[in-house]
Amino acid sequence: MVANELKEKYPERNLEEGAMVTRFAPSPTGFIHIGGLFGSIVDRKLAKQTNGTFILRVEDTDQKREIENGVTGIVSSLQDFDMGPDEGQISETEEIGNYGPYKQSDRKEIYEAYAKYMISIGKAYPCFATAEELDEMRAKQEAAKVRPGYYGVWAKYRNLSVEDAAERIKAGDQYIVRFKSPGREDRKIKHKDVIKGNVDFPENDQDIVIIKSDGLPTYHFAHAIDDHLMHTTHVIRSDEWLSSVPLHLQLFAELGFKAPKYAHISPIMKNDNGNKRKLSKRKDPEAAVSYYTELGIPSLAVKEYLLNIANSNFENWRKQNREADISEFDFELNKMSVSGALFDMVKLFDVSKIVISKYSAEEVCEAGLNWANTFDKELAQILQKDKEYTLRVLGIERGIEKPRKDIAKWSDLKENIAYMYDEEFQKVKSNYELQKITDKQKIKEILNTYAEKYFDLND
Ligand code: GLU
Repeated sequence: MVANELKEKYPERNLEEGAMVTRFAPSPTGFIHIGGLFGSIVDRKLAKQTNGTFILRVEDTDQKREIENGVTGIVSSLQDFDMGPDEGQISETEEIGNYGPYKQSDRKEIYEAYAKYMISIGKAYPCFATAEELDEMRAKQEAAKVRPGYYGVWAKYRNLSVEDAAERIKAGDQYIVRFKSPGREDRKIKHKDVIKGNVDFPENDQDIVIIKSDGLPTYHFAHAIDDHLMHTTHVIRSDEWLSSVPLHLQLFAELGFKAPKYAHISPIMKNDNGNKRKLSKRKDPEAAVSYYTELGIPSLAVKEYLLNIANSNFENWRKQNREADISEFDFELNKMSVSGALFDMVKLFDVSKIVISKYSAEEVCEAGLNWANTFDKELAQILQKDKEYTLRVLGIERGIEKPRKDIAKWSDLKENIAYMYDEEFQKVKSNYELQKITDKQKIKEILNTYAEKYFDLND
């Protein structure tokens, strides 16, 4: 494969002016973090709203971190949220779209072609540094109190002649490929991030690894090549990558590619006893997207809530458009929070209660049953025993102007309706404190008061 030919294989997309091409690019670790879902909601929304393309690309070049069937977990989580991509991976082994492969490990030849091209124009080189050599370099840098890394005078193999390098490769010496950075640390670059605004950085001067010893590219190199060939217009990603922007812009420039726009999303925050902190994979169950499915929060509610915290003008829009579908909301990337959206479970439940209040009895039954079939067999039985009766139970205070708003998640449903079924009522009776009143006079009094106060109103 030759780099030049790839241009023809991945032609410009035939999209209208302003169409955005976005991508969600997770590593297949089998799990989507709420931050990943948040980002992909933004990606997909922007692509849909501009008649663009939303891509799911699997970044599996770090084979140590991979788990078996890691792609399946990601694809099915996206499906749970009705967020399938326009292009990209749709199962462990299948993909759709003309700009693939969409799994990085299947793109090895493409990266190789560009690495060769970069070497041929003197912008990359094979590096034979051993672990000992690198350790020695680090120790010297520490002693000299200079910045660590492989750059400038420290970049030992940077100026090795082509003949010498070829000889060593022929002799079977191990090597990796490094980028020959033209940058200087004492110069600054200016970058305008779509979310973070203007940021200044020193130029990159590190000769970073572009092809590792296993022949696969590093994230940086793959990012530049993939987003170029897939014609991504907006790279929307976590702000842990913001500091890599100088390197990425340099890679794009040296490869002769036009750089995409970057939008770096701040992490989702949570209020922990008055302290704002990042949602943590380890500490917070709500950080895993599967948590919402397990609780039985409708995916629409989760999406609506995430849009709500993603764009500050959403709440107002919702107030003015109570019945509108979220697809009608005009999302604006530059209105995303720089300090990090605050995630609040109670507010999510409130949103969910409203979403469920708009369901018909049939819809509650269907969605509830769907959830119960996996997570609560007993509830599934209750719902199915007498469908007609169930629909009447679920229909109470629904389809009216002010519908009931007491169900936030399907895991609430059993408790909510059990007392309407004789058998279940017997089981849960002890949950209710019933007084034993035998005094006839007292009973009469109570019934009279009830009859007096009873007011026949819908709600
Ligand atoms: N695979 C990278 C990650 O999961 C993707 C970052 C990006 O969107 O470019 O962090």
